Parts: sequence; C-alpha cells; structure tokens
Amino acid sequence: MNRSSVLFRRHPDLRDTTLPEGPEIRRAADELAAAIAGRQAIKIFFAFDNLKPYASRLQGATVCQVTARGKAILTRFSSGLTLYTHNQLYGRWLITADSEYPDSSRQLRLAIHTGEHAALLYSASDISILNNAELRQHPYLSHLGPDLLDPGVDAGQLAARLNEMQYRRRCLMGLLQDQRVLAGMGNYLCCEALHVAGIHPQRRPADLSSTQLLQLTGSCLQLARQSYETGGITNDLERATILRQQGAPFEACRFHIYRRAGLPCYRCGTDIIKDRFCGRMGYLCLTCQQQ
Ligand SMILES: [Zn+2]
Repeated sequence: MNRSSVLFRRHPDLRDTTLPEGPEIRRAADELAAAIAGRQAIKIFFAFDNLKPYASRLQGATVCQVTARGKAILTRFSSGLTLYTHNQLYGRWLITADSEYPDSSRQLRLAIHTGEHAALLYSASDISILNNAELRQHPYLSHLGPDLLDPGVDAGQLAARLNEMQYRRRCLMGLLQDQRVLAGMGNYLCCEALHVAGIHPQRRPADLSSTQLLQLTGSCLQLARQSYETGGITNDLERATILRQQGAPFEACRFHIYRRAGLPCYRCGTDIIKDRFCGRMGYLCLTCQQQ
C-alpha cells in the first residue's frame, strides 16, 4: 500500500452518499472476505420471506469465498450454495463485532454471524441464493462485460469491444455505464475517464480516432484500478495528497470534475458544468472536452 492510500483510506459507513461502483463493490467484497471467509456461519438472518428457509440450510456451513462480479457480490458457502447480492442504489454492507448492530434507520436485509464478526447488509433488495447451475445462468452475471478490475483486461481489448458494430454508434455516457459492455463502471468513473481522456460525453466510439479510443479505455482501466487501491480517488494522486494535507475534506479531493460544478477545471481553469448527457447526469469541462 502506498503513502497516498494510507492517507486516504477510510471505512465505508452508512452515511456514504456516493453510489457504489466496481471499485467500491470490490473493496466491500475484500472487507467481507477478511471478516468472514474461512469462518463458520453460526447464525444467518434473512428479512425476506422467500429466503428465510435458506437460513437453516446455510447455518453451520463455512463461508468459502467472497468475490465481486461487476456490481454484485458472491458469497460461496461450503454447502454448495452461493449468496448473490446486488446493492443497486442504496444497499450497503457493514461489518461489525458479532453482537453489535449500528443505530440506523436503514432496514437490515441479511446478517451472517461468525461469532467474531457480523456481516450486515442494509437496504438492498436484490438478494438470492443460487446453486451452481443457477449461478451460471444468472441474468445479470451471465451478461456482464469484461471487468475493469480484472488484471487480464487491457485497453486494446476494451477499445475493440467499444468499436463493435452493436456499440460503436451509442453515446459514450450511456455506453460506458452499461454493465453488459464494461463491468464495474458507473457515473463517477465514467465522468472522470471521459474528462481525463479529453472526450465529450455525447460522442460515440465511431466519432473517435483509434488513438482517442485507446486513451479513453486506458483511462477507464487506470482510474478504476486507482480508485480501488486508494479508497475512491480518481483525481491526480499528487494533487489529491496536497489538497488533503491542506485540510480539504476527503470528498473535495477525490475527483477531477465529478461533483465539482461551478469550480475551475484543474487543467484549464474553465468552470465545470453539470448537465444531462444522453439521459444521464454528468460533469464536463467544455474546454478540455470539446464536442
Ligand atoms: Zn478543462
């Protein structure tokens, strides 16, 4: 872990308002794995009636593995079943000491107790228990595109994908956030990657040169991986470190343009604007990202 990640690392909590994207989900999976993988689930709670019968089937099983796939988390049990959870907009995982429940108005949807820790999922509604055949055929998992945090994925491969006939005439603001195209990309990563690559959010892969397309997919990969390693920072790390040392709050240091409407672009000084692009809210520097 480098100096910056120590400086910025923070624990997710129930007040965090940034919607989770690939890096946040991967970190949540890492933290869940550190707390409960290799441990026996001595008590399991499900809030939804359709899942309650599984509690007794999973209690006593060992948690084998916790992994992220796109924006979903898979928790595999030694009984052969896998818990699938997708946080969507509001879901949050929290890890506590086993008997500790936080004071929260959010609704607890599931809890896995190991005796030492409890893994608690709040507010999520997309939760299911799957056997191996169901896992392979799952409608979300089976259609996921290449994962930005998969070390085997490279910029050339992603550029070729964006250039495929079914994708190349779609607006980048929507295309990059389609999990069937690229897994793990959400709104903040999309705005930041387009800005770093100097590309307007309404452009399409078909409008770009091969160099621009490679710059864009390289930025997508680099920013997703940096965000994963640093606890959510896509800004230039040196700049973010200086801002943090000057006393700026974490949220004010994280991004190049995201949530910086009305503030000057770090690169050119033009005011950042917030607007709707291809139906999605986003941020833009009109000087650095010309249409
Ligand atoms: Zn600019």
